[in-house]
Amino acid sequence: MTSDRAPGWLRDGWPHIWLPYTQMQTADLPQAAVSTEGTRIRLAGGRTLIDGMASWWTACHGYNHPHVIAAMTEQLQRMPHVMFGGLAHEPAFVLARRLAGLAPGNLNRVFFSDSGSVAVEVALKMALQYHYNRGESRRTKFIAFHHGYHGDTTGAMAITDPAEGMHRLFRDLLPQHLFIDIPRDPDGVEKLRALLSDEADTIAGIIVEPLVQGAGGMKFHDADVLRDIAGYARHFGALLIADEIFTGFGRTGSMFACDQARVVPDIMCVGKALTGGTIGLAATLATDEVYEAFLGAAETKALMHGPTYMANPLACAAANASLDLFEREDRLGQAKMLERLLADGLAPCRDLPGVEEVRAKGAIGVVEFRRKPDAPELRRQFLEEGVWIRPFGNIVYLTPALTATAEDVATLTGVIIKVLSARTAQPA
Ligand SMILES: *Cc1c(COP(=O)(O)O)cnc(C)c1O
Repeated sequence: MTSDRAPGWLRDGWPHIWLPYTQMQTADLPQAAVSTEGTRIRLAGGRTLIDGMASWWTACHGYNHPHVIAAMTEQLQRMPHVMFGGLAHEPAFVLARRLAGLAPGNLNRVFFSDSGSVAVEVALKMALQYHYNRGESRRTKFIAFHHGYHGDTTGAMAITDPAEGMHRLFRDLLPQHLFIDIPRDPDGVEKLRALLSDEADTIAGIIVEPLVQGAGGMKFHDADVLRDIAGYARHFGALLIADEIFTGFGRTGSMFACDQARVVPDIMCVGKALTGGTIGLAATLATDEVYEAFLGAAETKALMHGPTYMANPLACAAANASLDLFEREDRLGQAKMLERLLADGLAPCRDLPGVEEVRAKGAIGVVEFRRKPDAPELRRQFLEEGVWIRPFGNIVYLTPALTATAEDVATLTGVIIKVLSARTAQPA
């Protein structure tokens, strides 16, 4: 569709690029983005799209927020990077203190990394070594949930739903963990209890995306479900790892999803929106109790991990600026307003044939189908209507910037209704 207008760099680079989650043989040439501003993505050739995705859920303040850009520019000129081994810098130390202050309970220690998947790897290592350091070396398995997604590195893959996730192929190569349904009813709770009780001394931890399972299908669960999971983890001596990489920083309407359940996990991972959608950074937070298990005279008790670009100053400056905006502007209020706008805006989709459910939580709006729609075709149609929406699996969803206006949301939901109505009007 765009190839006649494609800029030279796109055509020249195309034979050398390998895209994410893509069958390259049949892939369309991707859209050439040349600049961003607020909720808009400008394409080569001059078209502008309204963004419904916030670039994989990162751009919580919209693109190019002047406060974040200014902080990064200043940091870029002063010191883009120094190693974190033996050298300290203000952006990381300030950010660690602020994250510890914002996080629930006594999640007071912050380990920085460069991507969400690595933050999850660190969380798994922390949990395993926590038990090991306390003389419980048999605790090596994790309980994870169907429809869960925790990243693409091999450790994270092994706790991502093997059937629903993208990692089926590697199943036999990965450590075998235990998968179970999110315990939404008494029966589910009993299954979780029984599994923990049967495997009590081999379970290192339970990993969960609190309140919303993102990449596994935008599936919601209630706060009391999360409280049940936390309660049983504690009872059976397993650590609770909350993967807030998607849900953190206002996405579900509170700063962290755990806040809504008043649950304090033992370990918490953040990433994605941490830098306001500008640059890769993630963090693994641990409670005082977890941290203290790593203290002692023995070198072997220490956490042996250290990504090269750990705590990159430029990324930490961006994250501090992003947190400033959460303090100065009412992002959580905006997220709650978006919940209403998305719920109302998408409600008419309930009446379309093939639609299983329409739901919204915070700045997440979801239309779920009974059967998988033709995602590439839907994507093409959304593009023609001037919006950036990327359906996957059996859902079409919106995760706009928390700063998206009512008008933006009306346009996005209006296009979804238009495209889905046209689709179902055709013979199936
Ligand atoms: C995106 C995501 C990850 C992986 O983060 P990357 O930065 O892509 O490595 C892990 N967990 C959850 C819940 C995510 O949404």
